[in-house]
Amino acid sequence: MTDELKTIALSVRDFALPVPRTGSIDAQSGYGSSTLEGQEIHIQVQQKRAKLFSDYEAEVKMSHEFKRGGFCFQIGGRMDGLFSQGRPKIEEIKTTLNLKELLRKLSTPPQNHPYCLQLKTYGYFYWLQHKVLPELTFHLVSTRNHESEDLEIKLDIADYEEWLEHRLDELVEEAQISEVRAERRKEIAKDFPFPFENPRPGQLELIQEIEIGMENRNQLLLQAPTGLGKTVGVLYPALKEALARGQNVIYATPKNSQHVAAENAVTQFRKSGSKLKSLTVTAKSKICFKNEPLCNPEYCEYAKGYYSKVYENDLKKILNRKQKLTTQVFREIGEEYEVCPFELQLEAAQDADTIICDYNYVFSQSTFLEKIQPMPVDQEGKPNLVVDEVHNLPSRAMDYYSPALSSQSLEKIREDVQKLPSQFRSQAEELLDGCIQVIISSRPGSSKEERNHPSPSPNAFQKPQKISLSPELFIEQDLRLRQFLSYYLDSQLEIQAKDAVLRLCFYWAEFTSALDIATNPENKEFFVTYHPHATGGTIKITCCDASDQLKSCYKEYEQVVAFSATVKPFEYYAKLSGLKLDRLKTAEFQSPFSKSNRKMMIIPQISTKYSDRERSYPKVAEVVRRISSLKSGNYFVFFPSFFFMEKVLEVFQAPPGFTILKQEREMKSRQVETVLDHLRLGDVPTLVFAVQGGVFSEGVDYPGKMLIGAFVVGPPLPNFDLEREEMRKYYDEAFGSGFDYAYTYPAMAKAVQAAGRVIRSETDRGIIILIDQRFINGSYSQSMPTDWFEKSPLELVSQSILKEITDFWQSSETH
Ligand code: SF4
Repeated sequence: MTDELKTIALSVRDFALPVPRTGSIDAQSGYGSSTLEGQEIHIQVQQKRAKLFSDYEAEVKMSHEFKRGGFCFQIGGRMDGLFSQGRPKIEEIKTTLNLKELLRKLSTPPQNHPYCLQLKTYGYFYWLQHKVLPELTFHLVSTRNHESEDLEIKLDIADYEEWLEHRLDELVEEAQISEVRAERRKEIAKDFPFPFENPRPGQLELIQEIEIGMENRNQLLLQAPTGLGKTVGVLYPALKEALARGQNVIYATPKNSQHVAAENAVTQFRKSGSKLKSLTVTAKSKICFKNEPLCNPEYCEYAKGYYSKVYENDLKKILNRKQKLTTQVFREIGEEYEVCPFELQLEAAQDADTIICDYNYVFSQSTFLEKIQPMPVDQEGKPNLVVDEVHNLPSRAMDYYSPALSSQSLEKIREDVQKLPSQFRSQAEELLDGCIQVIISSRPGSSKEERNHPSPSPNAFQKPQKISLSPELFIEQDLRLRQFLSYYLDSQLEIQAKDAVLRLCFYWAEFTSALDIATNPENKEFFVTYHPHATGGTIKITCCDASDQLKSCYKEYEQVVAFSATVKPFEYYAKLSGLKLDRLKTAEFQSPFSKSNRKMMIIPQISTKYSDRERSYPKVAEVVRRISSLKSGNYFVFFPSFFFMEKVLEVFQAPPGFTILKQEREMKSRQVETVLDHLRLGDVPTLVFAVQGGVFSEGVDYPGKMLIGAFVVGPPLPNFDLEREEMRKYYDEAFGSGFDYAYTYPAMAKAVQAAGRVIRSETDRGIIILIDQRFINGSYSQSMPTDWFEKSPLELVSQSILKEITDFWQSSETH
């Protein structure tokens, strides 16, 4: 009989939900999963119980099947603990920051909080199996001070079965919606037209490469240049394969500004008749209606009664009717129904065929995507993952695990602490002082006496040093901060944007939470450094290889397609991106544009090495002046650093009629737009002095006459500082190529990106001039696209630079 039914496996947590949904968004809503700290307390309690009670058993499996409406719901979970002597007793352990509040919620009739329903569900399953009604108890533990309370609840079989009836009806409805979704996806996949009449040159090969790779279950790492139509070219096969299995695609980008390309691709698919649904995820800090995203019903009216409001107004249905879900849609619905727009994204995500989001949601806060897994009906496997601009992934992932604590930053918070209401001010200041003391006490060379009474002046030494850190002091301080935070939030105070107490607590907590992994001597990819300065010091954790963490993220996906215009050498990016080398397929695609549209040159006669820089400033200035004088238009000069740029600017003489613009260190997006508008207008020939790896050299297009040339001055090698040198040592040991991994490859990714700004369409014409002798060196040139030269980068070296460029411009005019 079961064979004819569709089986759906659900966890007790996903099953035991109130009907109708009630409650607000807060830490005790019961809708989220437990924190890491909560899990540790669980284990401690279970171990204690096991020692004390011989009849105690932890993590007892319990499951039951319910058949309804053509489906078989297999509900399974693990009870935290079972005492079997005498009348059996089931115990669930729950942890919370606010013990009293959770106790109040769980005791309030009709006791249909998700936690109560979970416990009752275990009790009911036990009763079905053993025909004995067990005792049901909560053991509630405070994460603040480990105090605990026990609460017994009653299982009334008739009441439970009444809820069960409603819940099973609801599940049948959810399963039918999931069936329709899977069917819709499979239908789209059967007839999923390519959105253009003819694929662009190279685009077809790209699609075929991905299709074959997915068939062979390879992970794909692809280098695809601009102009290939790579977003459509990658998304098309990835979507088709996922939809055919009733699944969807997660499209991850390093910056929000790169979401547009993916949204446009989905729009193209829609235009060609495919009824695809897409969702673009906006970060909580950007979409939140309040000054600070403090998600609890006392502070935020959009959190208050959120689950009830979503249920009563059937907002899921409203969202499911929309094809394109963007920030604006969530904000409008959020305003209208007074519900949190960020959480609404989660409600809508299950139905989206493409979810476009920042790397964070895939590689850092992967719980976000876990929350949006739809009910698995008629689906096979898992979603597919597309990683755009993957050359950014290694460093972004390292940053996730590389927090720092600085006494300077704490001093900045102090200015706002002093503005706090008087009842909080002195305690907050004391805590802040305590934080600074903890930092200073980590200073290397501090004697025990100094550690107990640290002074801010770093007498013992002036240079940054590698240190070994013991986490205890940081954790103790974290506990103090948490206690204060809880007292602070319990007050009636209106929290303002950038609240000082929140900033202080979060800043400390972020660092403390990384200590466990960073101070484990087995994790050689982590090290800690101390940087002294006048007000104390900065402690930095550096992760120089986050590939292990990334590897576990890929497990959530069926197929992985990662691509960029600069992922060479492949081995470097594959290893540091955590891709599986034994399953890896790499491919490079050539630019579809005619090589005759660009003039590419290396000028190795100038060295921009640190030791030669003084001499190189006037030479670089002269080369740029002479070459740009040959043709009026817009050029970028991309430098390895702001310092280098300023030095060349000091001696630079602009060709007659040219305007000079320059990139500022901290440029607001409005200022960036002003520069772009100026280039777009194109009425004055302009040289823009900028840096590689900056806002003007990556992720921005300069079509047509907006840009006719780029000078790339030297590969922008990272500074030879303590951290980079430590990274070099690690890479040497781990991969046998310390210098290349730490310096050469990251620099070349920036240089190639900068060079790639010039030719963005088939009508673009322009020059690309690479200035430095290292560009002809094999370890640097192996990062260059294959279509830059035939056999050797020496082919790009000219003995008559000005003549060749003049000839190029003349020949372009005749085209
Ligand atoms: S609106 Fe902001 S504060 Fe309120 S629940 Fe949403 S994210 Fe949290």
